[in-house]
Amino acid sequence: MTELAARLSAIDERIADAARLAGRDPGEITRIVVTKFHPASLVRDLHALGVHEVGENRQQELSAKREELAELDLRWHFIGQAQTNKAAAIRRSADVVHSVDRGRLADSLHRAAADDRVLDVLVQVNLTEDPGRGGVAPAAAEALAEHVLALDTLRLRGVMAVAPLDEDPASAFGRLREVADRVRALDPAATWISAGMTGDFEIAIAAGATHLRIGSAITGPRPDRG
Ligand SMILES: *Cc1c(COP(=O)(O)O)cnc(C)c1O
Repeated sequence: MTELAARLSAIDERIADAARLAGRDPGEITRIVVTKFHPASLVRDLHALGVHEVGENRQQELSAKREELAELDLRWHFIGQAQTNKAAAIRRSADVVHSVDRGRLADSLHRAAADDRVLDVLVQVNLTEDPGRGGVAPAAAEALAEHVLALDTLRLRGVMAVAPLDEDPASAFGRLREVADRVRALDPAATWISAGMTGDFEIAIAAGATHLRIGSAITGPRPDRG
């Protein structure tokens, strides 16, 4: 626990430093702790340290942890590739879905609405040349955003992306920023930019990220996925 606390505060210091360096208010940046493959007990420890935003990339793991930790004040972010046949389960367990990458998935999440609750979603943008990676091509992001905006059980919050492995993240995040600006022109409330992981969050902050998804730098190495 003390090691976890030390890693968490070290990352928060780096976030604050990077924000100040970029002339930004650290208070406008949300740090999501990605807890995938770690047990629910780790999420409980994080919560005891003041963490309220957590991220998972697999529906079953998300649903199981949310159920086990139902009494804790946590906001669950779904950040993984989503199958449309899991949309109802994702909708039940996630407060925010970062990975809406096609109209069909948006439709499925919309149809899965079971009550008046509106689901926060982000359009995931593929910054690589590989269409097999998650996300919509940058040129198609506005059309997908328009699609989401027409579904009244979804609330478009902005865009999300993962930096490619074979490119300077600063230039990739620069492209994301342009997509984010175009999406925000469609709806001024779509202000979120979810970008930045353990290896590149400071660069993402310089590029305007509002939501960081940080895993191993805080949790320690992930156990084998089994
Ligand atoms: C696992 C994951 C992260 C966190 O990765 P780290 O390198 O451990 O910080 C962030 N975003 C997505 C989409 C992930 O799958």
